[in-house]
Amino acid sequence: MNFVKTFRTLLENASPSGFEAHGAKTIADLAAPYCDKVKIDALGNVICRKKGSGKRIMVAAHMDVIGFMVNRFEKDGFLQVTNIGGHRASRLSGKKVRFLSGVQGVLFERSDAELKTKTGDKAAMTDLFLDIGAASEEEARKMVRVGDVAVFDYEAKEIGDGLLMSPYCDNLASCAAMLCAMSQVKKTENDLYFVFTVQEEQGLKGSKTSAHAIEPDLGIAIDLTHAGDCPGAADGEVKLGKGPAIKVKDASLICTPEAVEHLRRSAEENGISYQDEVLLRGGTDTASILVSRDGVPSGCVSIPGRYIHSTAETISVKDGEQAAVLLARACEKEL
Ligand SMILES: [Zn+2]
Repeated sequence: MNFVKTFRTLLENASPSGFEAHGAKTIADLAAPYCDKVKIDALGNVICRKKGSGKRIMVAAHMDVIGFMVNRFEKDGFLQVTNIGGHRASRLSGKKVRFLSGVQGVLFERSDAELKTKTGDKAAMTDLFLDIGAASEEEARKMVRVGDVAVFDYEAKEIGDGLLMSPYCDNLASCAAMLCAMSQVKKTENDLYFVFTVQEEQGLKGSKTSAHAIEPDLGIAIDLTHAGDCPGAADGEVKLGKGPAIKVKDASLICTPEAVEHLRRSAEENGISYQDEVLLRGGTDTASILVSRDGVPSGCVSIPGRYIHSTAETISVKDGEQAAVLLARACEKEL
């Protein structure tokens, strides 16, 4: 399975939190050849089991992406949208979006002067409007309705020396890596569950319910982490192209030392380069798996990324490929 090709396929079906059914079928079809059973649960998590007689390992990659939802119509055919997941409104003016129905549009600021004075997180989604090309409110209401959702409308580009620049590397790059890992896992006693989770960007929801159902002996999430290697970054030491990172801590949890050790030894015993990660902000599905049931030892493999939650999230293709290899080896290793 090719990492970039798989990512591009997932990107075509990018689905915002709560609307994962849009892309879930594609993921289930890609996963089916590499597991014994694929199930989509009540919340929409895609749970893929590769049966074993030993300990249960749950690997989780969230498949939801950040996006937008129509919340009101305005005069002359323009729309107001609210955010799904974390956006910085001051960065959104001029960005192209597409609805799951295919309707396209562009976000723009109501007042340039006003947006500039509201720098950083102070700008709000209500400082922007969405133009879908409708000539009137009546026409706009024929094209979309309140509650309809949209995603960024940009293609993936391979740039420079092996970098991939695209919206939704967070977290479709991890989904692609998890699919690649599934295709690479060799014979093992471990009972493996690969879960493509819903609503991570809305508060780690799908991982919570799926971890409850699976009751794993070890939890491993895979997600993007902020690289600290571009101008102004102050997020630790992780760099693009130096291998996947093994998380020790972020703002949502301290990973269980046994889980960190399991991942480090899986890398070291197989000659996989990795980086140590301590991130000062952010959170991942790891945090909700950790506190499920009576508590589950949990760790996280991270793909280093720049410009996370923008239209140009940038990762190293090699880091993504190596994250897949690391996951596969961690799944095979005895607990
Ligand atoms: Zn993420």
